[in-house]
Amino acid sequence: MSFPKLCDASGNPVTYLRLSVTDRCNLRCFYCVPEEGICQSTQEELLRTEEIIRLLQIAHLCGVNKVRLTGGEPLARRGIGRMVREIGKIGFRDIAMTTNGVLLHKFAPLLREAGLHRINLSLDSLRPDRFHTITGRDYYDAVIKGLAAARSVGLTPIKMNAVIVRGVNDDEICDFVQMSAEQDDIEVRFIEYMPIGVGQGYRDEKLVSVAEMLGRVKERYIVEALTPDDPGAPARMYRVVGGKGKFGFISPMTQHFCNDCNRLRITSDGKIKTCLFSREEYDLLPWLRGKYGDREIADYLCQSVARKASEIDDKYSSSRNMTRIGG
Ligand code: SAM
Repeated sequence: MSFPKLCDASGNPVTYLRLSVTDRCNLRCFYCVPEEGICQSTQEELLRTEEIIRLLQIAHLCGVNKVRLTGGEPLARRGIGRMVREIGKIGFRDIAMTTNGVLLHKFAPLLREAGLHRINLSLDSLRPDRFHTITGRDYYDAVIKGLAAARSVGLTPIKMNAVIVRGVNDDEICDFVQMSAEQDDIEVRFIEYMPIGVGQGYRDEKLVSVAEMLGRVKERYIVEALTPDDPGAPARMYRVVGGKGKFGFISPMTQHFCNDCNRLRITSDGKIKTCLFSREEYDLLPWLRGKYGDREIADYLCQSVARKASEIDDKYSSSRNMTRIGG
C-alpha cells in the first residue's frame, strides 16, 4: 500500500516530527509552568505507548525521517526506555530527545543502548542558586551529573538550550559562550523567550533579541559565523575564534524561520499542532482509538498538515502552555 507524503500548504515536505510523550514535568520553570500548577491530562487522555508507536510508523511511511521526543519531561514518562527501543525499530534517520536532564544520569546508558541518537539539554543557568530560582527546584547537581552521563555514553554533541529572559539570566550569555569555547562536544544555543501560555503575561519586555545577544557576545569575543550543517536547522551558529565548540541563536520572535520550517508537532494528548504559535489543533485520538486503518489515519494526518500556513499569523495567540506542547 502506498502512503501519501506530508506536505504543508505550499507543498513543502514536512519531515520532522516533535512528539510530546507526557505533559508532566519535574521542574516548574516560571515561564513555562503556571504558578497554580499544570492542568494535566488524565491517563486516559494521553497517547498510549502502542498508539505512539503506530502513529510514528504511519508518520514514517508518510515521509517523516526525524523524530524528537519531548514533553513535559520525556524522562518522566513511565516506560520511556522501552518506547525508545520500539521507535528505534521503525527506521528513522534521526531520533532525538529534548530533556531538562534531571533524570538523565539514570537513563543515559539505557537510552543510548535503546537507539537514541542525540539529546538537547535545556539549561538556563550555570549558577545553582539561579537554577533554583528559575526552575523552582534544587536539581542543578543532578542535571550536571546527567550531562556527564550523556557525554560518557556518547550521546553527543549535546545541544544545550538556554532560554534568555531579560533581568533573569541575560548576564550569563558570555558564561555560556565561554563554556562552548572550552568544550568541543557541547553546542550552546540561545533561544529567544516566547510569549506562549504562561509566558504570554510577559510579552516583549522580557525578550532579549538575538541581535542584542550577539552584540553582547561580540563585545567580549571575536567570533566567526559558521555554515549550517543542515540548511533547514533553525539555529544560526558561530564559534569563538580559536575556541573548541560552537554556539548559536534561535530567533522565533525577531526572525522567524517559517520558510524553512519542516516541522509538525503532536501533543501528549494526541493533538496535531502545525505551528508552535498557532491555536489550531487537530485531534488524532478518535482516529487512533476508532476503527480506522493506517491509510485512513495517514490521510487525516496529511490533510491536517496541508493546512500548515507558510507564515506565522499571530505570535501571541497560543494559549496552551509550552509544557503541554513540548517546545
Ligand atoms: N522538559 C523538557 C526540557 O526542559 O527540555 C522538554 C519540554 S520543554 C517545554 C522544551 C523547551 O521549551 C525547553 O528548552 C524550555 O526552556 C523551552 N520553553 C518553554 N517555554 C518557553 C518560552 N516561553 N519561550 C522559549 N522557550 C520556552
